[in-house]
Amino acid sequence: MSKNIITVVGARPQLIKASAVSRSLEAKESLQEYLVHTGQHFDDNMSGVFFRELGLSAPDAFLGIHGGGHGDMTGRMLIELEALLLKKNPDLVLVYGDTNSTLAGALAAAKLGIPVGHVEAGLRSFNRQMPEELNRVITDHVSDFLFAPTTIAVENLSREGVSGKGVSLVGDVMYDVALAMAAKAEGKKTEVLAELGVERDSFILATVHRAGTTDNPDSLLAVMDALEQVASDIPIILPLHPRTRARLTSLGRMIIERKGLRVIDPVGYLEMVVLERAAAVVVTDSGGVQKEAFFHGTPCVTLRNETEWVELVDLGWNRLVSPVSVDKIREAILGSIGVHGREGRPYGDGAAAEEIAKILDRVMSS
Ligand code: UDP
Repeated sequence: MSKNIITVVGARPQLIKASAVSRSLEAKESLQEYLVHTGQHFDDNMSGVFFRELGLSAPDAFLGIHGGGHGDMTGRMLIELEALLLKKNPDLVLVYGDTNSTLAGALAAAKLGIPVGHVEAGLRSFNRQMPEELNRVITDHVSDFLFAPTTIAVENLSREGVSGKGVSLVGDVMYDVALAMAAKAEGKKTEVLAELGVERDSFILATVHRAGTTDNPDSLLAVMDALEQVASDIPIILPLHPRTRARLTSLGRMIIERKGLRVIDPVGYLEMVVLERAAAVVVTDSGGVQKEAFFHGTPCVTLRNETEWVELVDLGWNRLVSPVSVDKIREAILGSIGVHGREGRPYGDGAAAEEIAKILDRVMSS
């Protein structure tokens, strides 16, 4: 008899990660997946486009929950997810990463005694002010199957007393996706770059969305000022996250498209990969974008004081800069042009999703 997995996703990066794992789960005859989208991200360019471009099946259930404070959003998700889990009675709930959807899925399942699998387990910034850090820590501690992307993630778990058979070092599913998209992105490169009027290695790609940056006006304004200054030397493409746009608007900060700073709506995944591969430098506060810069061989400046992906810094591909000083941000970006790191493969061999499906198939049928 087949076993049922309910996967809970909701935010953009989870759709990307789930696309790889869902494909591998589908290939296992004894596993049936039911996909729940909480609705945390719902715009077409934050959600729909990823289903189309990455071949992820349409969600079996869409909860339509977004907005509000963390407690409000997570609470509503818990209520809806608990009702759904009681109705469906799955054999396992699978969650991804570190968002409110991750926490709600894991907690709702754990409280009902349903085993939880966490993809991207063990990551730590050691900064408990980040909502993402709290989501990760709690999710890991209520999970039964912890799929760690790196050896450091396994060590982090072990330090917190989480070890043993439930922890598996599988590699990073985002690396699987990056490898699968590289050739497609090459085919689309000329068109995407021409449309945006930029050339390979002669522009900066920037993303800014993390609550730690956007909810701190000094930080957000310093980042925007620095980007405007850099753009007078080298063009910048900034696909702007809706949260960042909303914060800038409420601060009365005009986004001035001058001196080469091009602010566009969030782009689809393929377009994003083209830009990451072609940029001279990627500037970001995103977890996923830091890694993708490395996967595609582009130096990265991360607008944070710390990162969960410390391997990128150790290998010299990623430079951290505190998002407070305009001068330091500008210098870090301009100083990273042409500075490539060392070779290394800290994120596995591109078969993380397959490994996760294999493990789930084994443990769920035993
Ligand atoms: N991304 C995208 N279009 C954009 C910006 C980001 O497709 O306009 C992708 C990016 O390639 C990466 C993921 O979204 O795979 C990262 O998501 P995000 O930065 O929202 O979250 P984080 O990784 O920080 O959790």
